[in-house]
Amino acid sequence: MDPRDARPGELEAWAAERGCDAGVARRLLSAVFKEGVLDPSRWMAESQIPRRLAGDVGPIPLPRLTPDGSVASPVDGFQKLRFRTAEGLALETVLIPLHKEGAVSLCLSSQVGCAMGCTFCATARMTTRRNLRTWEIVDQFLQARAIVHGQGRRVTGAVFMGMGEPFLNYDNVLAAADLLRCSSAGSVAAKAITISTVGLVPEIDRYTREGHRYRLAVSLGAATDAKRKELVPVAARWPVADVVAAARRYALARRTRVTLAYVCISGVNVGEDDARALGELIGDTPVRVDLIEVTDPTGRYRPPSIEELQDFRDALTRHVGQPIVRRYSGGKDIQAACGTLAGAG
Ligand code: SF4
Repeated sequence: MDPRDARPGELEAWAAERGCDAGVARRLLSAVFKEGVLDPSRWMAESQIPRRLAGDVGPIPLPRLTPDGSVASPVDGFQKLRFRTAEGLALETVLIPLHKEGAVSLCLSSQVGCAMGCTFCATARMTTRRNLRTWEIVDQFLQARAIVHGQGRRVTGAVFMGMGEPFLNYDNVLAAADLLRCSSAGSVAAKAITISTVGLVPEIDRYTREGHRYRLAVSLGAATDAKRKELVPVAARWPVADVVAAARRYALARRTRVTLAYVCISGVNVGEDDARALGELIGDTPVRVDLIEVTDPTGRYRPPSIEELQDFRDALTRHVGQPIVRRYSGGKDIQAACGTLAGAG
């Protein structure tokens, strides 16, 4: 039983089967998350955990992702960490400095590679793909947090916006989020955890039904099916109207605004007609629209100019009439920006 791999309630059940109460399960979690102790023999010594559990905990010490480099941007302070899985696959995690002094949000990967095929995204071009296990997601958090603490800063949030489509790895991502939120484990506030999807309708509905308290961000790409098929080919199996309808069901059920992320591409999806189509699509659904300028090292897509973006923003204000936010996609110089994570550079 690796506590970093546990589903909600699983660790308590495991402890109960061995005649231990929920407090033991909490102390195990705390030993792993708060002290970063991965050797069960030390848990026994330091956390008053019964010795008879030692043999049941798993390989000793528990496996880790192998650190494979770190690069920090001199431009904006974003930092990218690269890890290797046991079979040598690369995955990346980004440290995002927040406005509040010393606060950092972690951008976590949920998969190696991604099958969604977004045409502006380097992760989609990776040839090897697989879901990350829960512990592999949690270990990104633990190793990144140790670095952040070493810098005298603290982790106050986590976003599942790194490599992969989180809802293609639904169970492991939600188990990891639950561990990050747990007060005996990661202690990150639920509202400071965001799960992003490129628009998988059944999973959005499942997420709504299950009543999770994490923020949801739905990445649209475009407001019409014709344009969306060009940008997010696999996600476009669901009409964009169905995606926004699912986002609306979430927003109404949770009584919140759902974040609609919109990658802005010069000459492609930032015209007056795009803003009008987006306004018609959204209607009175409570949303916040996050505008993200595309970063495409291949040069196929260009970000809008300052004027083009401002015009689009003005048009959205007229047609959508709800909060429009420009989301800074940092670390461009170190290939850490949205859509550039590919385990290289
Ligand atoms: S943008 Fe996200 S969903 Fe699309 S290919 Fe890249 S990682 Fe996957």
